[in-house]
Amino acid sequence: MFDVIIIGAGFAGAVLAERFATQQNKSVLLIERRQHIGGNCYDERDDNGILIHKYGPHLFHTDDEEVWKYLSQFTDWHVYHHHVEAMIDGQIVPLPFNLNTLHKLFPPRLADKFEGALLNRYDYNTKVPILKLKQSTDKDLRYLADYVYEKVFLHYTEKQWGLSPENIEGAVTARVPVFVGRDDRYFNDRFQAVPLKGYTEVFRKLLNHTNIKLMLNTKFNEVMRVEDDKIFFLDQPFEGQVIYTGQLDDLFNEKFGALPYRSVDMKFRTVNVDSYQPAATVNYPNNYDFTRITEFKKIHPINSTSTTILKEYPQDYVRGQNTPYYPIFTEENQKRYEQYAAEVDKIDNLTAVGRLAEYRYYDMDDIIRRALDVFNNFNT
Ligand code: UDP
Repeated sequence: MFDVIIIGAGFAGAVLAERFATQQNKSVLLIERRQHIGGNCYDERDDNGILIHKYGPHLFHTDDEEVWKYLSQFTDWHVYHHHVEAMIDGQIVPLPFNLNTLHKLFPPRLADKFEGALLNRYDYNTKVPILKLKQSTDKDLRYLADYVYEKVFLHYTEKQWGLSPENIEGAVTARVPVFVGRDDRYFNDRFQAVPLKGYTEVFRKLLNHTNIKLMLNTKFNEVMRVEDDKIFFLDQPFEGQVIYTGQLDDLFNEKFGALPYRSVDMKFRTVNVDSYQPAATVNYPNNYDFTRITEFKKIHPINSTSTTILKEYPQDYVRGQNTPYYPIFTEENQKRYEQYAAEVDKIDNLTAVGRLAEYRYYDMDDIIRRALDVFNNFNT
């Protein structure tokens, strides 16, 4: 029998499997419904040898040195600082919206005036969430905020979430702040890189241990169930630890109603040009049905005469039909989530971890941090 059962082979599940196996010599059963490991970080080479991220672009960045060191045990890195441009009024300009963006979009005297207003109010190199900038009392800042809101955030957010920025938790748009500085990189973290051989290879290394048994193509409810606040595995009560990283509503048969998620239709295309666009990702906040185009050879460099691009078309998540990517942050959804979380608390040997199971917009480094913390809690 197994000491630990883990559901889901994304970062949350794989890191915990690795920890239990190597640090406590526990036998771990890892159950994954897909036919591959890696969750939404899964990548593979396409027919042209280009490494593509099947479930959308994943760029590793962190300020957490312990997380960086932990993951570095399982991979070498290709140092990579992500650059995103946005198509605004027919011009390609840097994102996050920063002082360079300002000077590209406005005539020199007006841009100088806005720059002066920003620096009067904020220190150089500060991040300002757009919803905060919109509350400015200064007339120039208010004008600028309304402009950036309209051109960068409003329509992108409506496409991405089916909601306006005001109707979704402010932390979502604050991920891409207005940046009062000239750093054109998308992230400012100390450590930024992609795994040299890709993410899937990292997962292979994480899970390559005799104590870990991997069961692919298996939905958790084919082998286990929750009944009377107890967990049953193959119809027997299971007393070991259970780590669940899937959707919580699924675990409890949607008894409080479905938890909404946002999905994306990922459309890949090979184009017979050496380079398709000026940056790895170009966002299209306005016009078009898609939100952004990512060109993968700009993330994982390779010599090839063609290139692979990905257009992302956001859509509602429909159970059994597409992939849940993002929890949708509204008050109502959060309340429903908390009802499910209370059910988890009733079960002594169950822990919910990860973006789906905790209904949180975790980045990869956040998930690894959380998995390491969960493991350490078992140790104390
Ligand atoms: N966002 C936006 N316009 C942009 C980029 C981002 O309005 O050009 C908002 C949008 O609501 C998006 C959120 O900021 O969902 C977070 O963007 P991020 O690039 O972090 O999203 P992810 O890469 O996680 O999909």
